[in-house]
Amino acid sequence: MDTAQERTDVSAHEEGAALTDVVIVGGGPAGLSAALSLGRARRRVVVVDSGEPRNRVAAHMHGVLGHDGLSPLVLLERGRAEAAGYGVRFVHGEAAAVRVAGDLIEVDTAEGTLRTRRFLVATGLEDVLPDIPGFREQWGRGVVVCPYCDGWEHRDDVIGVVATSPRSVEQAQLLRQWSDRVVYFENVVGATSGTDLERLASRGIRIESGAVTGLRIEGELMTGVEVDGRVVDVDVVFTGPTMRPRDALLRALGATTTTSELGDWVDVDADGRTSVPGVWAVGNVVNVRANVSVSLGLGSLVAGALNADLVADDVAATLLAV
Ligand SMILES: Cc1cc2nc3c(=O)[nH]c(=O)nc-3n(C[C@H](O)[C@H](O)[C@H](O)COP(=O)(O)OP(=O)(O)OC[C@H]3O[C@@H](n4cnc5c(N)ncnc54)[C@H](O)[C@@H]3O)c2cc1C
Repeated sequence: MDTAQERTDVSAHEEGAALTDVVIVGGGPAGLSAALSLGRARRRVVVVDSGEPRNRVAAHMHGVLGHDGLSPLVLLERGRAEAAGYGVRFVHGEAAAVRVAGDLIEVDTAEGTLRTRRFLVATGLEDVLPDIPGFREQWGRGVVVCPYCDGWEHRDDVIGVVATSPRSVEQAQLLRQWSDRVVYFENVVGATSGTDLERLASRGIRIESGAVTGLRIEGELMTGVEVDGRVVDVDVVFTGPTMRPRDALLRALGATTTTSELGDWVDVDADGRTSVPGVWAVGNVVNVRANVSVSLGLGSLVAGALNADLVADDVAATLLAV
């Protein structure tokens, strides 16, 4: 059983049994990395994906070893082809609903209901941007979030940081690593505390008070931030969107959550297990810090743990049968 074609044929045959080892919802870096490992472990895997990865607005992806500067969509296209080579099947569209059915989990998709032994959620998160004109249009270009993804491209530029919470002060301090021309816009968050002011000033970070009302766009290019009826020249804006995990499926299954300053997030252990038996999660849906590399790594780690869990099940089932 060596060739990719033979492997695909086997998988197609096994689909007839309508039982899958693992259904993965979400075909971003986390889900595809898990799919690749599980496919190579000869598991019957289906990936259900609606095709809207978080970084789809970015033309280039940075900080991913071996792929620096690659289009994020090209990475996923390659990932899908690699996983398909090991028999992983893809269903396009939303996984609309999920339920526990005895020892199995049923997942409703555009192509019908899938029955699976294990369920892995890798649905990512949604970035909710501040409601400022121009932000959505410039998202991923003139307005960005992650210094490690876009800081180098704006080294020594005038970097604006538009505050969305008191934590934005830390974002400004971090960005000072890439440029000594950082402007901190207090925006509606309001006056920065005395200590923060001192710290920002000590590193030459300029503070602009007042609510940000828009951006100056010239052609396609963002060139300034409108505040208090004037425009401050900047080359790029970094901001902190509210990050909302796309965890509706996990919540529908009753997964437990923990509240932190970042909101209410579903609990997983170090292997990616949720509190619901047979249900696992990986990537941005449960980990706000999972960039592409971390998502790829955790996808692989969770796949290994999932496969071991299935092996343990197989052993137990065999012992029961004898
Ligand atoms: C503008 C921007 C630029 C970025 N640039 C970089 C960068 O340069 N380098 C870097 O390392 N990181 C970057 N990131 C972070 C990167 O996008 C995330 O780390 C990564 O996408 C997380 O992968 P994931 O697999 O968890 O989720 P995602 O990539 O978001 O994938 C989730 C997938 O699940 C699908 N999905 C969701 N719900 C359902 C459902 N119910 N049914 C079916 N499918 C569903 C979505 O359509 C999507 O395809 C950037 C982020 C942003 C916002």
